[in-house]
Amino acid sequence: MTISLTPLPSLSDNYIWVITNTTNSTAVIVDPGTATVCVNFLEQENIKLVAILITHYHWDHVNGVERLIQMYDIPIYGPATEYIPYLTKPLTRHDRFSIPELKLDFQVIDLSGHTAEHIGYLTDRMLFCGDTLFSAGCGRLFNGTAEQLHAALQRIKQLPADTTVYCAHEYTLDNLHFALAVEPDNTAIQSRIEEVKALRAKNLPSLPFTLKNEMRYNPFLRTDKKNIMDAVARHSGQDINNSEDCFRYLRIWKDGF
Ligand SMILES: [Zn+2]
Repeated sequence: MTISLTPLPSLSDNYIWVITNTTNSTAVIVDPGTATVCVNFLEQENIKLVAILITHYHWDHVNGVERLIQMYDIPIYGPATEYIPYLTKPLTRHDRFSIPELKLDFQVIDLSGHTAEHIGYLTDRMLFCGDTLFSAGCGRLFNGTAEQLHAALQRIKQLPADTTVYCAHEYTLDNLHFALAVEPDNTAIQSRIEEVKALRAKNLPSLPFTLKNEMRYNPFLRTDKKNIMDAVARHSGQDINNSEDCFRYLRIWKDGF
């Protein structure tokens, strides 16, 4: 069995991830914000859709569900306590489920913060994290709290370093410019900027990324570092001496950047 991952560009900067078992031509789609790109891909590749996974309720992650379920009789997985259209498999943190066609077992991880009940999906050293962690950045706070999002990022940091992260937006270059403002002396940021510019020049995604690489340049995963705490303290005028406060004021700094 071979699993292949395909990012389908959607709207201005979203990616819809398709997880395909190329042996039996079945697939799961994560966060179909639009249906057309999904339908085109499935028809072109002659792949049967067997389930949809939703990370949170935002329209750019769920709006394609209606058309897809008219075409395919499939389960819709998503957070139990958010309004997800056509949800048939409500999930709460720590739930596990299998997609037999893909021979994959998924574990639900609590990634609340961007929204109050945002979840992520872990399988086979892959994390589908929606709008929680981006390359060199993280999600904004909508109806979740800084405390929640900080805790969610700590949970992600505890995953194996070789975990590959599939997030839902191409925000990388903008995020890196902010990262460089926070840590001007971090050479890993400059290297990543060059790498991403080269990819984007060829219209290729900067995603996915490994946790191991991301820990070197994503300021939101580095809020326990003294130099970041000092930069955030200087910018915010606050006393910053712990990771959670550092995260809180770093997020505010980024919102106004
Ligand atoms: Zn969102």
